Amino acid sequence: MKRAALLGASLVLALPALASAGGGSCESKEGDAWFTAADLRYLARSAQIEEQHVHWRRSVSLGLPFDGRLLSGVQLPPHGIFFATWDPALKRSPNRAWRRWGTDRLVKIVLDVVDAYALAHPRAPEVLIGDLSRPHGGHFGREYGGLGHVSHQNGLDVDVYYPRRDRVLRPPRAARQIDRPLAQDLLDRFVRASAERIFVGPHTGLRGPSRIVFALAHHDNHMHVRIRRENRGQILGRSERGRTIRALELGFPGPRRILVVGCIHGNEQAGIAVVRRLEAAAPPRSDLWVVPNLNPDGAAANTRQNARGVDLNRNFPSAWRPIGARWDPQYSGPRPWSERESRFAKRLIVRLRPQITIWFHQPQALVRAWGQSIPAARRYARLAGAPFRAIHWLAGSAPNWQNHRFPGTASFVVELPPGPLPSGAAARYARAILRLAN
Ligand SMILES: [Zn+2]
Ligand SMILES: [Zn+2]
Repeated sequence: MKRAALLGASLVLALPALASAGGGSCESKEGDAWFTAADLRYLARSAQIEEQHVHWRRSVSLGLPFDGRLLSGVQLPPHGIFFATWDPALKRSPNRAWRRWGTDRLVKIVLDVVDAYALAHPRAPEVLIGDLSRPHGGHFGREYGGLGHVSHQNGLDVDVYYPRRDRVLRPPRAARQIDRPLAQDLLDRFVRASAERIFVGPHTGLRGPSRIVFALAHHDNHMHVRIRRENRGQILGRSERGRTIRALELGFPGPRRILVVGCIHGNEQAGIAVVRRLEAAAPPRSDLWVVPNLNPDGAAANTRQNARGVDLNRNFPSAWRPIGARWDPQYSGPRPWSERESRFAKRLIVRLRPQITIWFHQPQALVRAWGQSIPAARRYARLAGAPFRAIHWLAGSAPNWQNHRFPGTASFVVELPPGPLPSGAAARYARAILRLAN
């Protein structure tokens, strides 16, 4: 970080010399005589070099902006060629180091937007950046100085002060000090850079798409930009009715992989609450994957089956046999893998080869497993404080297939009690998964 800071400082010091070297030519967009095109190319290149000195790593944003955490965050440098930072509590520049942490993606977006904006407006003052999140996210309230923040808790939020008409590098004291065209351009660039929300002061007159830009009190001197969380996940595909089915990687890539499927029977949705808990928790050291809902059509219609009336957990090939007819409670489908949802599960499982897979169901309030999966299931039951029962695999079920196809791995069923899961119970079942994973 020191190197980056030094580099930044030296480039900032080099600026006046460079500006005078620009001489009388006039090539920038604004008819600005301060910089030649070559100067701008040099600056753009310098900004890129500066960026290489940020300590980049893959960050994880957890929970919500107003109740969340940040893992493996990235620190925004104290200043750069095109920006400075501002400490809203001490009212000075640069901002203190511990207030400048965000996800890698947030820091990248800020730097990219600032670069593009600065190059488009060579005469504009540097962009003044305020607070991001604390090093590990979490509460960022009044005790940290100034007004504090309600959000800024999971590395997705950043405050950006509006450029001032008098070009002074301080937050504007009133909306009339704002250079409106420049501020609007800066805002537009954050919108295009996939901001999810931008809060602007009610007196700023700044505008944007109504689903993104909102007027909010206390934002007449800065815009608050929130970027969309980039989940380390992937879309497995779309259900029969076109609903997205996702898998998320919550842990860190490694040899020990655990998969949790929150819901496969659409009218047994309590496991989704357990998955939510996992998403909000600190990730385990192993590679934890979750599929919150493999059967979103069934969940939407509150049916056990998918939208084609098939019980997905009878659609896997081990010991598959034809059972019933469409919309029968255990209709197996016309043949193994006949359903897209079960094929998505197959593809993911074949690729991940999880050592442990947990399938949530309801309403029997017990953990059940057979054969090679018994030890892991027993352990999980003990950790979760649930009864364990050794029960033979059902024909065509997912664990049956996994246990035959992947010797030495465990795949078992956790039956939650009926009805919605109280939050204490969801936490208990999630904690047991994390302990199994660690
Ligand atoms: Zn803010
Ligand atoms: Zn079930």
